[in-house]
Amino acid sequence: MTSVLVTNIGELVTWDDERPVLRDAALVMEHGKVIWIGDRTQAPDADAVRDVSGAAVIPGFVDSHTHLVFAGDRSAEFEARMAGRPYEAGGIRTTVAATRAATDEQLAANVARHVTAMRAQGTTTVEIKSGYGLTVRDEARSLAIARQVTEETTFLGAHVVPDDTEVAAYVDLVTGPMLEACAPHARWIDVFCEKGAFGADEARTVLGAGQAAGLQPRVHANQLGPGPGVQLAAEVGAASADHCTHLDDADVAALVDSGVVAGLLPGVEFSTRSPYPDARRLIDAGVTVALATDCNPGSSYTSSMPFCIALAVREMGMTPLEALWSATRGGAFSLRRDDVGNLAVGAKADLVVLDAPSYVHLAYRPGVPLASPLSS
Ligand SMILES: [Zn+2]
Repeated sequence: MTSVLVTNIGELVTWDDERPVLRDAALVMEHGKVIWIGDRTQAPDADAVRDVSGAAVIPGFVDSHTHLVFAGDRSAEFEARMAGRPYEAGGIRTTVAATRAATDEQLAANVARHVTAMRAQGTTTVEIKSGYGLTVRDEARSLAIARQVTEETTFLGAHVVPDDTEVAAYVDLVTGPMLEACAPHARWIDVFCEKGAFGADEARTVLGAGQAAGLQPRVHANQLGPGPGVQLAAEVGAASADHCTHLDDADVAALVDSGVVAGLLPGVEFSTRSPYPDARRLIDAGVTVALATDCNPGSSYTSSMPFCIALAVREMGMTPLEALWSATRGGAFSLRRDDVGNLAVGAKADLVVLDAPSYVHLAYRPGVPLASPLSS
């Protein structure tokens, strides 16, 4: 059996230029790719037929920002924060200690558990960062473990400066032996450019070294306050500047002019009880916006893209259609991928079926498990 006709689709979201959303539609896939989309009544024959009974079908979510390689949890920190203590970047060190103490098998099992949970909620492409090892050995094994489940791996040795280490010495390590050990397992390089982590000059050095080693840059930018992260992302031609919570007009203009994708991570603002980024302002200015979970044990321990869509609609001024676009096609732009995050002819057949007649239900019925990948 090679070709499969998926039919009786009540609403099909493809992001095809001509036909982004179709009603009463069908789709044919073969060898893992979409080969036909159109009206149900005009569908060609195929070797097998799947009738989805009027359900909506969307592209699988592209989660373009996660930190899945870690051990331990920080529920006590979350509980304290909900009782009024502010979030500080230094909490990362708690997870670093637990991650270093874990075996490869434990870390791989944690990653597998989270990826399985993501897939069950409709995520079919995931980016995974290192950043809880902060030694040559622990960063390299984190990336090797992530590589077992995704091509989209990101070296984030410059997540936080380890205790008892000078910033300059640590940047030398990150851009020297650590980069050398990590580059073979990574596609991307990232840096936490933030007060309390890495300043603009250090971040520029880290990203430049990564680029020289063949990695493409992305930046954690403007999360906890105003800062140079977004401008640096534009300067180095980063694929994305993620967080973008505190932006001035020049930052927004830099995103527009450079084409850097703004990755918004509303699980963080939810989990840290902080003001959300202004997605409406970015979209109206012409910025490409991606939505991602930032799944990590400190500031956003959710692996649910539908939850992020609901937050984006309720709290960030996005329409349901914009939020779905950002969680699929926007994520693909963030990862510079054209084969995922859409269901146009030629794309990967990463179909997600909703237990609902429309994508609108993702935000309209928050917390309800509506999305599941079409098992082939
Ligand atoms: Zn992050």
